[in-house]
Amino acid sequence: MAGTQLTRTQDPSPAQDPQTPPAIPDPKGASPAMAQWFALKADHPDALLFLRMGDFYELFFADAEAAAAALDIALTARGEHAGAPIPMCGVPVHAAEAYLARLIRRGFRVAVAEQMEDPKKRTGKAPIRREVIRLVTPGTLIEDALLEAGRPNLLLALAHGTLDRQDVIGAAWLDVSTGLFETAAPPATDLPALLGRLEPAEILAPATIKLGDHEPKRGPETQASPPLVARRRLAEAFGAASLDAFGSFTDAEAVAATLAVDYVRTTQSGTLPRLARPAPQGQAGVLAMDAATRSGLEILRARDGGTRHTLIGTIQRTLTAAGARTLAAWLSAPLTDATEVVRRQDAWSWLLANPEAAATLRAALRTAPDIARALARLSLSRGGPRDLASLRDGLGAARAAAAALLGPLPALLAGALAVLTIDTGLEQTLTAALADPVPLRLDDGNSIRPGFDPALDAERALRDDSRRVLATLQLDYAQRYGVASLKIRHHAQLGYVIEAPAQAVEKLREYPELTLRQGMANGARFSTPELADLDRRIAEAAERAAARERAVFAHLVRTALDQVETLATCADALARLDVAQSAASVAEPGMWCRPDVTEDAQFHVKGGRHPVVEAALAGQAAFVPNDCDLSPDRRLLLLTGPNMAGKSTFLRQNALIVVLAQAGLPVPAERAQIGLVDRLFSRVGAADDLARGRSTFMVEMTETAAILHQAGPRSLVVVDEIGRGTATLDGLAIAWAVLEALHGAIRCRTIFATHFHELAELSGRLPRLRPHTMRVKEWKRSVVFLHEVAEGAAGRSWGVHVAELAGVPAPVVRRAAALLASLEKQSATAGPMAALPLFAATTSPEPEDPPCGSEPDPLIAALAELDPDRLTPREALDALYRLKALLPVCATGAA
Ligand code: ADP
Ligand code: MG
Repeated sequence: MAGTQLTRTQDPSPAQDPQTPPAIPDPKGASPAMAQWFALKADHPDALLFLRMGDFYELFFADAEAAAAALDIALTARGEHAGAPIPMCGVPVHAAEAYLARLIRRGFRVAVAEQMEDPKKRTGKAPIRREVIRLVTPGTLIEDALLEAGRPNLLLALAHGTLDRQDVIGAAWLDVSTGLFETAAPPATDLPALLGRLEPAEILAPATIKLGDHEPKRGPETQASPPLVARRRLAEAFGAASLDAFGSFTDAEAVAATLAVDYVRTTQSGTLPRLARPAPQGQAGVLAMDAATRSGLEILRARDGGTRHTLIGTIQRTLTAAGARTLAAWLSAPLTDATEVVRRQDAWSWLLANPEAAATLRAALRTAPDIARALARLSLSRGGPRDLASLRDGLGAARAAAAALLGPLPALLAGALAVLTIDTGLEQTLTAALADPVPLRLDDGNSIRPGFDPALDAERALRDDSRRVLATLQLDYAQRYGVASLKIRHHAQLGYVIEAPAQAVEKLREYPELTLRQGMANGARFSTPELADLDRRIAEAAERAAARERAVFAHLVRTALDQVETLATCADALARLDVAQSAASVAEPGMWCRPDVTEDAQFHVKGGRHPVVEAALAGQAAFVPNDCDLSPDRRLLLLTGPNMAGKSTFLRQNALIVVLAQAGLPVPAERAQIGLVDRLFSRVGAADDLARGRSTFMVEMTETAAILHQAGPRSLVVVDEIGRGTATLDGLAIAWAVLEALHGAIRCRTIFATHFHELAELSGRLPRLRPHTMRVKEWKRSVVFLHEVAEGAAGRSWGVHVAELAGVPAPVVRRAAALLASLEKQSATAGPMAALPLFAATTSPEPEDPPCGSEPDPLIAALAELDPDRLTPREALDALYRLKALLPVCATGAA
């Protein structure tokens, strides 16, 4: 792990340069304590070193400076090194998780060094032994505070490979927090799609694999093993003789998987958390969607990064965090196998048909904690009493869920039922053992219920008995010394002492067995040999009780982990049931349907809706449903219509219906038949990507190129206003050519929205193209959008009316309308080949009624250049100012 930088920050703090590791000072002449720091730091130069010192984690030197800036905590100094004070900062151990979370989010990695011996039992002068027991990195988190409950947290490892002489990428991804472990070997060109689908938190890859937008997530460079070694080591890690037991892996997958496992092991100082056996996903199996498609469709995240106006945000009715994660996984990887889709559909359809069972199941799920994440912590010896309680409650929830599933069941539910009932007594044991409620940490004590372990009860009795003795002793002292108000108190440094009020101090000093330890403002503290003895006994009893409690806890953890696979399978089943009931909830009001997913290339949606737009409209207006027919003989739907008429909405709704249908979920339509789509491309109104220095047009063309290279006859391509980022003629020409390619060479199902209504004339030449338009109604000289898709071409663009709606002042609107009329007249007389009004306009530039003589007029030119369809209200206003500014010139010219 050498040679990597300190930080991979998306949000660099000014205090340090994320690209270069801060220099570690020369350790020569360090104090013994600092020498230990230097030694630990040398093994983890690219991480911040959290050095445990009592109740704090301390950071030193550049680490301290970086952390103090990132966490906004005080930077102090301690001791000296090489003649200068040592910068230092620290975070309290009990609050460390919150600080860790912030550092991880800012792209740091953290090495946590703990005290490996008890400071109290230490002999000699050497510093306490400390070791790095964990490397905290974005892709290997297990703490709830550091994780998003409803989303996986993936570590992805990549390796180069070849398969049938094609370049492939071996990919292995795992979630340490849940044990998920999968691999795939997609063609190298599909890497962006895979990255978009997985959204990994951290990526291990050789420098030769470029990660694009995901580059900031690149982890340290690690050494890959040769394929044969990798296969053997991977099998060994899972206690198998050969990898073949788990499925068929390409070399590259095995290499990547081993890379991931090795890295996880390093971060956990040699311990491997519980991981499922790696499951190769095969070559096909999921609907390919690249990053632009995913972000454009706003499946899991909206453009603004939120989840409110997303597909998942609209359809999520899951009741558990694990269910939410599974739903997210289904939506990010819709299937391309009709049988599997039908299995999922059968599951929620059954729940829909059995509402009582669904209600029982939901009641059970509401009590189900996050079993998978509890297991992950327990398997790394970092679990607490609450994690065991999660297993207890999870088992209870599973039992209750199983009780809901009665009668002949569809396959998915029957499969879940088979693994839900775990009849091993673990639940009873945990119920008997754990106090209710359990404390957060084992050290808090009292996590084991009295009566469960006789030995523990005995130690506790001793401890508590000593306390009783203490109470008796206090009474005894009070009588013996004649000071009724005397108290026995525990003091952090002095142990048990007698506290006496001021007026009694003189009297007490006369007793030789009482030693004055400390004066106070209103009294004094005394110790006695008896108290010292009792102090020791109580401490010992308490320590013995705590030790016994730890032993009982460890035993319970081992008992639970003996069944880790069973428990993990059960957790998975609960998660799938949760998604099934969520789907049933969505379908229940009857507005969503079960689509017919078929192996052919059909595409019929009757009464389809956009779930997110519909939800956003809720209450204010009714969403207008629209049909969509992309049957093989009419597979190219060309959609024209003015701005704001609903084109983009229609496009996306059909793409989303495919995602939902192939994820095995209900779709927002009356009826739908979806012939399986292998790749989905959605290009919707590319936003300027100024951050990466690319113009709208460049982005649009890059994305168009990707479609033309990758789409095939089973794909669905949804394109929104291609070519609008450039001059009209360019744009029209490009849109035209792309349309021809999609129609002829690629032959995929396509919905193509455009404001170039000239393109509708192509229907004569492209037999499978069907022009459609968004219906609008003219009402009192204004335009009313009906949001209805109808066959035919747009009569006109209504751009002028939209400009009017947007508040462009009346004179300009009137003038634009007049110009439009003249342009239209020209194009109508110029013959069928000149279906390009603006082109026609440039060949005969003279408008009918030039206001400023026959010279080409700047005002006219400026007006002619305006495309109201493409103006925001703000741009329209700017345009108006520009036009107005041209006026005096024109007036002088006329004079
Ligand atoms: P366009 O792409 O043609 O400019 P949009 O698809 O962006 O239009 O739609 C503009 C607005 O019209 C949407 O934000 C939504 O509020 C409304 N809208 C679109 N389609 C519908 C529909 N089918 N039913 C009701 N309202 C709709
Ligand atoms: Mg649009």
